Amino acid sequence: MQPTHREAYPEEPARCAVCGGDAHAYGRAWRREKAISESFGPSESLSVQHSRAVCCACVHFAIGKTFHATIVRRGLQVKLWPQASWRSYSHIFSESLGHIIPRREDWRRVLTSPPGGRFMAVMTNTGMKNLVYRGLIAEDGDLFAMLVEDRAVWVNPRLLGDIVLAFEAALADGLRRDDLLSGDYSAASIFKVGRATWQVHEEAIGQFRRQSLHLLRLVHAIAASPAR
Ligand SMILES: [Zn+2]
Repeated sequence: MQPTHREAYPEEPARCAVCGGDAHAYGRAWRREKAISESFGPSESLSVQHSRAVCCACVHFAIGKTFHATIVRRGLQVKLWPQASWRSYSHIFSESLGHIIPRREDWRRVLTSPPGGRFMAVMTNTGMKNLVYRGLIAEDGDLFAMLVEDRAVWVNPRLLGDIVLAFEAALADGLRRDDLLSGDYSAASIFKVGRATWQVHEEAIGQFRRQSLHLLRLVHAIAASPAR
């Protein structure tokens, strides 16, 4: 996204405040105050804190205008509002699949069966932080890291797939998503599915809760709801 005359940083050598690269590497750099707001993540996440320039590549993911244009151009079924921007949604960038704004089923597919080539996945529920800049590049489909809000989570896709299946089986039998995550079932919800059925599912899920809580949290977000 090229800056207008008012947005452009002077034609002098500078490093990009965000990524630390040559600020003019992708066309004329932007003035920092025109490119990113003061609320742009914690200042520690800036590579060059004193720089007043931002490169065009970093600007692309910082401003709402490019996000809106991308959604409209590709005809994506994504809700837009005036302040919606890249940080408002989760993203997967994959060498083989391209860019995806994942729905639950996309997450489930990509994380349990990672695409070929490198990819980067950032998941947000709050939409408050610019996670794309801090995303972790996954190069190994057997074990990779992704960002969930501020936290790096290591994903073993096979184990994740096992937890997804156990979780979905419990959902299909009528147990509730939040209860499976917390282990905090009401007497009524146990009664509804029957004690024996509950016990089978809780034994399976309880083990994951004790040993793989990060993955269970992820599964809580991506497991498919039973068809109605
Ligand atoms: Zn940059």
